[in-house]
Amino acid sequence: NAKEQGRNGFRFVTREMGAKSRERMDLEGSLRRAIREGQLFLVYQPQVDTLTGRIVGLEALVRWRHPEEGMILPGRFLPVAEETGLVLAMGDWVLSEACAQIRHWRTRFGLSIPVAVNVSGAQFRDGQLPVKVARALDANGLEGPELEIEVTESTLIDDVEAAAETLAALKRRGVLIALDDFGTGYSSLSYLHRLPIDKLKIDRSFIHDLSTGASDASVPRAIVGLGRSLGLSVIAEGVETQEQLQLLRDLTCESYQGFLFSRPVPAEEVERLLETVTAVEPSPAG
Ligand code: C2E
Ligand code: MG
Ligand code: MG
Ligand code: MG
Repeated sequence: NAKEQGRNGFRFVTREMGAKSRERMDLEGSLRRAIREGQLFLVYQPQVDTLTGRIVGLEALVRWRHPEEGMILPGRFLPVAEETGLVLAMGDWVLSEACAQIRHWRTRFGLSIPVAVNVSGAQFRDGQLPVKVARALDANGLEGPELEIEVTESTLIDDVEAAAETLAALKRRGVLIALDDFGTGYSSLSYLHRLPIDKLKIDRSFIHDLSTGASDASVPRAIVGLGRSLGLSVIAEGVETQEQLQLLRDLTCESYQGFLFSRPVPAEEVERLLETVTAVEPSPAG
């Protein structure tokens, strides 16, 4: 009967919740260990010029090589990292790893394109971010524009005044600023022109809609126009098909990233890509 079912249902729910919070605590403990024991690594996704097909940037994305479970994507551990504050230690590691990699690539391959690093809300609001960024750059002899910091609109909108100060401090050190997942947040256009932002990243949901017929191109078109009028560069995320790329060219969106060109790949594979690009580069004489 219903009463019996209700009791069973209740027992079932509590057992589920117990399992969930246990899993969460396990995850917290093993993530703490992962940071300490070097189980995190970075993969890099090329950003490409829509017209020339040249690589114009790279985005660093964190991965976790779990000893038993294999590779874990940030979607599974970032929420826990954010709730527990572990995202700060993780973010420190990401920054110094990315900067060390940039230095290596500059020395070895003459890399001249920026590498983007994602920063979550907690890292951005921590107050230490500009100092930490400066330290990571200094430690690797970098000037600043080699590094791009990606933040989301929702990170900025919480406290626009504080955000403006943090962004200004980052800009003083020379780094580039990109607004990630643009168009999905509050999109309060009033703050955009007041903040020192270099680049808008059109969220991949709008790019996905481009080819499904679920929506027209009005949002990407509007973002490209906004970027142009504010003097910002615009990149489309999540480009998977040739059709989407062609639509972006038609919209005069200057760059894109997505599985169509490349998935995020380990550093060694980036080196192969860079070597290929260097190999086909015309010599200064020719
Ligand atoms: P994001 O910064 O917007 O990164 C783009 C995500 O889209 C990445 O997922 C990437 O693998 C995926 N992607 C790229 N091209 C395509 C495509 O053509 N189709 C589809 N379906 N997906 C594509 P990933 O690596 O799982 O990262 C998810 C999110 O986790 C990132 O979104 C970012 O917000 C966060 N994240 C990643 N790495 C870091 C990090 O080092 N620190 C912080 N704080 N957050 C990070
Ligand atoms: Mg990003
Ligand atoms: Mg994004
Ligand atoms: Mg995202």
